[in-house]
Amino acid sequence: MSNESLANLMTETRRFAPPAEVAAGANVTAAAYEAAAEDRLGYWAEQARRLSWEREPTETLDWSNPPFAKWFADGKLNVAYNCVDRHVEAGNGDRVAIHFEGEPGDSRAITYAELQREVSQAANALGELGVATGDRVAIYMPMIPEAVVAMLACARIGAPHSVVFGAFSADALATRIEDADARVVITADGGYRRGAPSALKPAVDEALTRPGAANVRNVLVVRRTGQDIPWTSGRDVWWHEAVGRQSEEHTPEAFDAEHPLFILYTSGTTGKPKGILHTTGGYLTQVAYTHHAVFDLKPETDVYWCTADIGWVTGHSYIVYGPLANGATEVLYEGTPNTPHNGRWWEIVEKYGVTLLYTAPTAIRTCMKWGDDIPARFDLSSLRILGSVGEPINPEAWVWYRKHIGGDRTPVVDTWWQTETGAMMISPLPGVTLAKPGSAQTPLPGISATVVDDDGNEVANGSGGYLTLTEPWPSMLRTIWGDDQRFLDTYWSRFEGRYFAGDGAKKDEDGDIWLLGRVDDVMLVSGHNISTTEVESALVSHPRIAEAAVVGATDPQTTQAICAFVILRGGAPQEEGLVEELRAHVSKELGPIAKPKRILAVEELPKTRSGKIMRRLLRDVAENRELGDVTTLTDPAVMDLIQSKLPSAPSED
Ligand code: ATP
Ligand code: MG
Repeated sequence: MSNESLANLMTETRRFAPPAEVAAGANVTAAAYEAAAEDRLGYWAEQARRLSWEREPTETLDWSNPPFAKWFADGKLNVAYNCVDRHVEAGNGDRVAIHFEGEPGDSRAITYAELQREVSQAANALGELGVATGDRVAIYMPMIPEAVVAMLACARIGAPHSVVFGAFSADALATRIEDADARVVITADGGYRRGAPSALKPAVDEALTRPGAANVRNVLVVRRTGQDIPWTSGRDVWWHEAVGRQSEEHTPEAFDAEHPLFILYTSGTTGKPKGILHTTGGYLTQVAYTHHAVFDLKPETDVYWCTADIGWVTGHSYIVYGPLANGATEVLYEGTPNTPHNGRWWEIVEKYGVTLLYTAPTAIRTCMKWGDDIPARFDLSSLRILGSVGEPINPEAWVWYRKHIGGDRTPVVDTWWQTETGAMMISPLPGVTLAKPGSAQTPLPGISATVVDDDGNEVANGSGGYLTLTEPWPSMLRTIWGDDQRFLDTYWSRFEGRYFAGDGAKKDEDGDIWLLGRVDDVMLVSGHNISTTEVESALVSHPRIAEAAVVGATDPQTTQAICAFVILRGGAPQEEGLVEELRAHVSKELGPIAKPKRILAVEELPKTRSGKIMRRLLRDVAENRELGDVTTLTDPAVMDLIQSKLPSAPSED
């Protein structure tokens, strides 16, 4: 990426200091950066002591065969013991682990002692079904407590899980079952979504008709909705029967630190999803540490809520493993943010007195679109720290989040990380960092990241390039399941000895990092590199624009032409001259070169189930190509809608 690229995101000048009380009581202070810089491995060895090891590791990192890392290799531990049993043994069995809120309004509080009993029963049931250490288990569930129990039960017996997002199609499920060669599938009859039961089990039945899924012996089915479902006797077993009759005692076995914990497929914004493999000791160390540091968790008093789905990595690391390893009390919500009304999330924050909230920019922008008056109806004064993950958060949304959700009081932590990194990598610390809206800012203590140019040289402050991670980290992916070569090619071949994240980034004059979106999304217009994130951010700063997605489409004159898809605030109709006004607005914000050639108002944008915009599909549309893989899209019909609009696109000069 060239340096002339427009540096205008960084012209955002608002700054927010940590509130005095957060700074005064912070779990992690500025001293951590120094300690980690002085002795990085020593720092991680110290963080590993947050966990209970059956055998303490004596070795921190084995990097003798890069990029295949081993962390804490001679240590042994059990992840479920760390997330559950040890809190009970420490006398916190009565602490609520999970406040479950079902979409229809049913709720259930599960203490650590109850969680221990349920996880033990589920582990016993898996054993009875013949699941042995190392066997893979596919989990295809709604957001109900049994999903968490199932993951922990797998971890407890050393059976790596592969969680497949509950709204993926039978096809997507089948390919993931096949790729991981899963032996058992854990599912539910259905879950509640948008006010109605939504079936899951039929998709499992369909997936299991595919030849690649022939090795699945059993399907363990949670009864959630009570709806009628097809049943294959001999293969299908009810959770409440098979798990319910088990002993509530189960002795956890300690596994090697490098024992596989789970496989998780990336969201597929850039191509065919990759089966990312995470292991035990390093992963748990970093998710526990980062949750403690970045959310400043006080397990005795905080109520934490991460709105992600367990089907993606944020759900793994920051609903299940990080918070539970730390003994947190957390909310688990089954449904959508607007069922039965647009204030449902804020009602939940009020009901449980949520203090720490972790969500995604797409959700924040949606709430902005619904209006400030909605959160204003609820008491959100319990909130202490707000987090964001999944996409670059544009400064407008960041400031709105802090103001309308955080009462103009709370720190906002913009956390950059990936399925591959397993845990947060670049983020402010809420009690330390002078926050800059729109920037993830600084690598966390113990993490080494920088921005490099095409030749791999670190760029100067004020310049842009590629985000790379320059040292191994504990929760790094160990490989792509079954495909070491793809692991090497995708992440380790672009820059010698460094991990290439696939994201573009800039360093500002202070050396803070601003994420610019995927490198594949960067546009080349008349010799200038322009990031889609920057143009989107400029569009969204216009009062009429609620959301925007920008792509570069092949253009004979300018190499690529900027093509913007926008959702109008307050909906259609689109007023005369709006397109011209928007183009002028972008030109003013970023310079004439960044002016979109085409602007198309749409009702919806194509998003993955984790809420990310699939720009590659919009690029296919803008270039009149056949659409690429749409299997991880929330709603493939969106693409038909957008395509049908294209010929009459209001555009350009
Ligand atoms: P695939 O790799 O299959 O294309 P994906 O990259 O969307 O899918 P994830 O691992 O869920 O799958 O997402 C990680 C990516 O999300 C990062 O590489 C980055 O592009 C984006 N991202 C996550 N958090 C942030 C953040 N705080 N700021 C900017 N971008 C972010
Ligand atoms: Mg990715």
